[in-house]
Amino acid sequence: MRQQIAAANWKMNLTVTQAEELLNNLLQEPKKLLAHQTVIFAVPFPYLTLAKTKVNGHTNYFVAAQNCSNKKSGAYTGETSIEMLHSIGIEYVVLGHSERREYFAESNAVLAEKLDLALSYGLIPIFCCGEPLSIREAGTQNGFVEQQLKESLFHLSAEQLAKIVIAYEPIWAIGTGKTATAGQAQEMHQHLRAVLAAQYGKETADIVPILYGGSVKGSNAKEIFSKPDVDGGLVGGASLIAADFTQIIDALK
Ligand code: PEP
Repeated sequence: MRQQIAAANWKMNLTVTQAEELLNNLLQEPKKLLAHQTVIFAVPFPYLTLAKTKVNGHTNYFVAAQNCSNKKSGAYTGETSIEMLHSIGIEYVVLGHSERREYFAESNAVLAEKLDLALSYGLIPIFCCGEPLSIREAGTQNGFVEQQLKESLFHLSAEQLAKIVIAYEPIWAIGTGKTATAGQAQEMHQHLRAVLAAQYGKETADIVPILYGGSVKGSNAKEIFSKPDVDGGLVGGASLIAADFTQIIDALK
């Protein structure tokens, strides 16, 4: 079975005390995960080592950064390199979240550079894609998201592609409380897998986990995750509430 993933995206939330309390709540008696299940905490940079310490010893629990620089190292004040993340043992990095694309003007081309750096250091990118409301209303979402994949991913080899995770996050559903229906999620995930299969072959396309993101909650996770091409979720708001995120972890196939 493909890897099934519950990924928490804390965004720019929580003080260190709150972060520790949330991790303690989730990890005091953590759900025992099956071999194909993974839980990832994408925490703000200052809490990466704290989160690493907390997940230590818990099988299939990992920590992610929420971004990285597209430069290897050097005079880029305020940036965080993949080499730094690698040096503190971080295994995953979220790339291309719609908030980074919108507020920090991250283009598909810059994201391609970040992906290359992440893969060269052995970090697993969680590559986010998704359309704004205007595109969904125009009915052109399939082509829009396909283009994001083509411009950021299609220079990768099949071997590299097989190492990444994709998160489909329709922008109109992020933080809005408006979730895509399970049917809409499945439709897009199936389309993206077909796009990957056309470029890389079915065998490779079948390996890549595709997460859904956009107002996933404890109450709707099971239905969304039950769809055959939905391999878990990237979760913002609900990942800040231990009881909700626990329910989301429980909903993994
Ligand atoms: C996200 O930040 O990736 C996200 C999906 O947020 P929310 O779950 O709050 O919609």
